[in-house]
Amino acid sequence: MKMYREEAREIPVAAQVDVLVLGAGPAGFSAAVCAARQGANTLLVEQGGDVGGIATSGLMSHWTGTTQGGFYEEILDRSADCRGGKDLGFNGSERNIINPERLKTVMLQMLEEAGAHLRLYTFASGVVMEGSRLRGVIVESKSGRQLIEAKIVIDCTGDGDIAAKTGAAYTKGREGDGAMQPVSIMFKVGGVDYSRAIFPGGFEEEIEIPGKGGVQALGKKKLPFPAGHVLLYRSTLPGVVTCNMTNCIGIDGTSADDLTHATLICRSQIEPITAFLRENVPGYEACYVVSSASLIGVRETRHFKGLATITEQDILSARVFDDWAVTKACFNFDVHNMTGNGLDATGSQKNFTQTKGYTIPYGCLVPEKIDGLLLAGRDISGTHLAHANYRVMPICANMGQAAGIAAALCVEHNIQPRALDVALLQKELIAQGVTP
Ligand SMILES: Cc1cc2nc3c(=O)[nH]c(=O)nc-3n(C[C@H](O)[C@H](O)[C@H](O)COP(=O)(O)OP(=O)(O)OC[C@H]3O[C@@H](n4cnc5c(N)ncnc54)[C@H](O)[C@@H]3O)c2cc1C
Repeated sequence: MKMYREEAREIPVAAQVDVLVLGAGPAGFSAAVCAARQGANTLLVEQGGDVGGIATSGLMSHWTGTTQGGFYEEILDRSADCRGGKDLGFNGSERNIINPERLKTVMLQMLEEAGAHLRLYTFASGVVMEGSRLRGVIVESKSGRQLIEAKIVIDCTGDGDIAAKTGAAYTKGREGDGAMQPVSIMFKVGGVDYSRAIFPGGFEEEIEIPGKGGVQALGKKKLPFPAGHVLLYRSTLPGVVTCNMTNCIGIDGTSADDLTHATLICRSQIEPITAFLRENVPGYEACYVVSSASLIGVRETRHFKGLATITEQDILSARVFDDWAVTKACFNFDVHNMTGNGLDATGSQKNFTQTKGYTIPYGCLVPEKIDGLLLAGRDISGTHLAHANYRVMPICANMGQAAGIAAALCVEHNIQPRALDVALLQKELIAQGVTP
């Protein structure tokens, strides 16, 4: 590749903060609120124009799994259309169904109440290092190229964009071949007759359509490959259903060219999928597209090497680590097929039997060799299969809670994350109702 050498230049220091959180998805939002509540001067930086990440801009259907407790419960208490014994939605909603528009507003309120500062439309692009210690993050925005200095940075960008720039070690995707889970653009259809509609919510949920066969088999036959599975989720709005059905394989979510290509592929599938629903699926005969995600859904990219690494064996054995930071995490191994549609052969949804939940050790949030940096969300240290479990939003939100508190404690005690006495973190988590 032809290269160009940029000239050195002076840039403004836009802010000097205790805790800088990058990325306002479930992990980053939670980290920023929890760090600010501990009294740390906290700034949350997000590339997009909304907070919530995949939960809102990604137009996500629901908080998945049966994770219990932690900051996740507080998000539900504040944002769910079905809460406090009242159904504020229209469809007899379950508590974990997301109304993205309400969630965006509630998240902004919670950040403000906590005293966290927010900078939207700002991309974190570079690092200022002092040896192996991260001292600040270079950001780009309408305001130009600026530096934000921070005592502790929490990388919640999903891809770990800034952690990667520090030189922190990582691998991408599956061990061995680096294959990464497919990407999707979520969209919503309106005009659905809920009294007759079906809602297949898992790859292995085959629902018979009279005279036509199983809906999954039908999708595989009629939808443009690599689309093919039929995943339809109730919303809280009348006649509106969330579709998780576009699919693009062989994509590296850290490449702008790949993301552009995937956007073209996924968007080209939306009309054929809608036509398929109208022609084949009961209740969807008059459906039409009402909205689509402004943020493409990337499931998997970098897995950083932490002081600890969580594995599938830890999850299967419901392991309680002594240095737990996240507790009662509960989901299955949701590996989407990396060469087509449906579930990957290594995925386990119907047959996943561990229902006790597992813990995530604090060491998974601490990069092995870099100081001044914590990780939370889908970029923490874990194997490909473990990631297929902990990547869901309730677990990412609770990681954010732990990382936010840990960062504030590091600032308070003037120490690096690797030196934090985990008992201090656990004491605060227990005070907030988090127990192993
Ligand atoms: C298609 C799809 C369907 C899914 N379905 C479900 C589901 O039904 N239920 C469930 O619980 N989970 C689901 N997941 C998983 C879940 O949504 C994600 O794993 C989870 O949102 C990860 O949280 P996060 O906070 O780590 O990252 P994200 O939600 O990805 O948030 C990262 C944020 O960082 C911002 N950002 C990225 N890079 C930068 C940068 N350099 N500078 C500034 N900002 C940056 C992004 O704009 C974004 O707001 C799904 C994921 C996908 C992709």
